Amino acid sequence: MPPRQSLRLLIVDSSDADSRQLAATLTRANIECDWTRVEDEAGLLRALDPLPDAVVCDYHLPELTAARVSEAVSARDPECPLIVVSRQIDDAAGAALINGRYRDFVRKDALARLPAALRREVQAAETRRRLSAAIGQIRSAPEDALEPALRAAIAQDRLALHYQPQVDLHSGRLAGLEALARWEDPVLGTVPPSRFIPVAERSDLAIELGRWALRAACRQIAHWTHCGHRELRVSVNLSGRHFTADSVVEDVGAALAEFGVEPRQLQIEITENTLVGNVERAVAAMRRLAARGVHFALDDFGTGYSSLAYLRQLPLHEIKVDRSFVAEMTQRAEDAVIVRTIIAMAHSLGVRVVAEGIETEAQLAALRRVRCDLAQGYLLARPAPPAQVEALLAVPAVVPAADDGAAERTLLIVDDEPNIAASLKRVLRQDGYRILTAEGAAEGYELLAKHEVGVVLSDQRMPTMSGTDFLVGVKDMYPNTVRMVLTGFTDLESVTAAVNNGAVYKFLTKPWEDDLIRARIKDAFAHYELSRENERLSDELRRANVDLSEMNVALEQHAARKTEALERQLAILQVSQEALDRLPLGVIGVDVEGMVVTANEYAVAALGAAPGTPVASCLPGEFTELLRRASAADGEVRAEHGSHAVICRSMGGASRPRGHLLIAVPASL
Ligand code: C2E
Ligand code: MG
Ligand code: MG
Repeated sequence: MPPRQSLRLLIVDSSDADSRQLAATLTRANIECDWTRVEDEAGLLRALDPLPDAVVCDYHLPELTAARVSEAVSARDPECPLIVVSRQIDDAAGAALINGRYRDFVRKDALARLPAALRREVQAAETRRRLSAAIGQIRSAPEDALEPALRAAIAQDRLALHYQPQVDLHSGRLAGLEALARWEDPVLGTVPPSRFIPVAERSDLAIELGRWALRAACRQIAHWTHCGHRELRVSVNLSGRHFTADSVVEDVGAALAEFGVEPRQLQIEITENTLVGNVERAVAAMRRLAARGVHFALDDFGTGYSSLAYLRQLPLHEIKVDRSFVAEMTQRAEDAVIVRTIIAMAHSLGVRVVAEGIETEAQLAALRRVRCDLAQGYLLARPAPPAQVEALLAVPAVVPAADDGAAERTLLIVDDEPNIAASLKRVLRQDGYRILTAEGAAEGYELLAKHEVGVVLSDQRMPTMSGTDFLVGVKDMYPNTVRMVLTGFTDLESVTAAVNNGAVYKFLTKPWEDDLIRARIKDAFAHYELSRENERLSDELRRANVDLSEMNVALEQHAARKTEALERQLAILQVSQEALDRLPLGVIGVDVEGMVVTANEYAVAALGAAPGTPVASCLPGEFTELLRRASAADGEVRAEHGSHAVICRSMGGASRPRGHLLIAVPASL
């Protein structure tokens, strides 16, 4: 018999007799109930406060529907068990049961089932309440509460890595993948990195997370290598706490070794803040790992405490421009300048630049124009589980390759008076340009972001922004463009200033002469194309230099590995030779030509073996005879020589003969 249980029960039934019968059934099953009966809505609402342990409701009520009872009960507490008792069960009742409106249905002619159903539901409700209280506590608790859950998730390998492609902007090909941790918790739901990474960083969990990520990434790299993607490089984010810990070099080495991954297949991303206060330690760890061939990227660049002084000390391969600069680089001249400056600085250090968070075609085009090397962002691909990323590994290019050939000559005319723009267009169209027109600065910037404009011709007097101010912005964002202003004589002072500070290349006066303006624009395009070609060549040179220095490093590492392997083999040989020399018997190695190539001390001293001379000239005739017999027999032959038993064994087999081994065992042994 189940343990005695005491329940506060609410019975919704129009019949007092039926209710008593229900209660009696429960008492017989050892459930003591303190029950109340209600039959209308007002009574129901009163009786739900305080909430009973369970509600049993008749399906056929004259004044209420079971659906309404369910609504009222779950409004008070969705976990409260509601069991419906009915003469028969129709389709609607079945559907309500399936949809979870009632916890159970008990037929009136099978009331004996009621106690067990009630017990089960009360117990389940209790469990559900406790669980949701725990979840609520974790959800609303300070982030500290996440720590134990994260610790468990890491220990039980319940986190996952998603991978986001990095694309080479020059070739359009996939250049690498960044591994990003994902946490889908059965209780907490999806916890984003922005919540759990800071929690990890506050404790030693950062190190656990780092080790986990390194192992998970290396396991995946090994799998992809096995599938033929040997050139793929995967980046793993390591927190500052882990990176400055004693174990970091060992942790990286252990993960690489466990899965047989080559160091060059792994890149580690650290942020600038990792280095603050720990530069020496971090640099030492970086150098040790870089010497083995591991790559390094400096993440979120521009958001931390950057200092050129330390950048030079770091063995960096990539600098990642933070998303916040990329986001507005096509609208805000300041951000465009920052991105360009970072690129110039990184290139001067021989480091590649990755732009993070590319979401629009305009950003992609702008980054290509400023010779950014690599791009990462939702526009190209979102982080995804390995199986989804694999589709990209097979494609020859993720985006089209950069078009460095002669692009169409594109001219942008900015003028607030549409008829002036139209007549300029008419004059210049005959020279075969693609002509874009804008009525103001904002529209002009938009067009510049979308198209590769070579020459900009702007009116000086415009209502929202002067032409020279507009062109100052254009210079900051697209310094390669050739910028010209169209002005009346009255504005000459400000225009001259703009020419002097480099924002404006030439100015043209209104009214203009058609031939003169055509010649000027033609010159401007020639100027643009020359500077573009110069830039392309120096960029090619720079990229070749970066590739070359990486190849050099790889070669050096290869040579170092080979030397190490040879030294190991030599050491083994020396040990083997020493062991042979200590043997109280003769061991002689003879090559296929019959030359003694090796002999131990005993063979030299007692038998006269002389390495470098033919067997026939240094050893007694029996040995030569034995060799002849062994060659013919292709196996092992024996003979006696004075007080020695001599064994001759063929080495290497018939298909690949490698000479013979002569062993002379003295009779005394
Ligand atoms: P992060 O290393 O800078 O990674 C790039 C973040 O930007 C990722 O966020 C990525 O999903 C997001 N992202 C990429 N493209 C776009 C885009 O076009 N638009 C927008 N809005 N976002 C984009 P996620 O995965 O949420 O990671 C956030 C940060 O958490 C990472 O920033 C990294 O600092 C950290 N993190 C992630 N996984 C790990 C890990 O395994 N270990 C450590 N220590 N940190 C990690
Ligand atoms: Mg990163
Ligand atoms: Mg980043």
